[in-house]
Amino acid sequence: MAKAWLALGANMGDAKAQIESAISHIAQHADIEITKQSKMIISKAWGKTDQSDFHNIVIEIATDIEPKKLLKICQEIENKLGRIRGEKWGPRIIDIDIIAYDRFEIASKFLTLPHPYAHERDFVIDLLREISPLTAEWIVELAGKD
Ligand code: ADP
Ligand code: MG
Repeated sequence: MAKAWLALGANMGDAKAQIESAISHIAQHADIEITKQSKMIISKAWGKTDQSDFHNIVIEIATDIEPKKLLKICQEIENKLGRIRGEKWGPRIIDIDIIAYDRFEIASKFLTLPHPYAHERDFVIDLLREISPLTAEWIVELAGKD
C-alpha cells in the first residue's frame, strides 16, 4: 500500500470540531486507513494574513487509491462539511491538502506533489516532521534544488 500525508486546516466556526469531523470521514472510507496523527496546533494565517488563526493537523494514511482520486475524495469531504470556495487563501471551514504521496512527483493543474507550498509553511513541515521525519526532509531538500 502507498503512504500519503494529508494536512488539514480550518479557521471558521468550530475549527477543532471540523478537523475532527474531517478525520472521522477519512477514517470511515473503506480504502483508507489512518496510521498516524500529529498533534493539533494553532497557527497564524499564511498568504492572506488578515483573518483568524488556523487549527492545523497532519495525518498519515495507508491506501491504494491513486493520488488524483484521493484528492477528489478529500474535496468531497470538504464539500460535505460545507466548504464554499471563496478567495484564494481566504477563510475556510475545512481544507484538506495532500502534502505527499509516497515519493511521487507530479505537476499538473489539478494536483502537484509534493504540495507546492508545503516547504514554505513551517507548521506543515513541523507537524509532518513529528510523524514522518524522512518525508519532511525529502520535501525540504527537493524544494532547495530548484
Ligand atoms: P489552498 O491552496 O488554500 O489549499 P484550495 O484548497 O482551494 O486552496 O485548492 C486549490 C487547488 O489546488 C485545488 O483545486 C486543487 O486541484 C489544487 N491542488 C494542487 N495540488 C494539490 C495538493 N497537493 N493538495 C491539494 N490540492 C492541490
Ligand atoms: Mg486545499
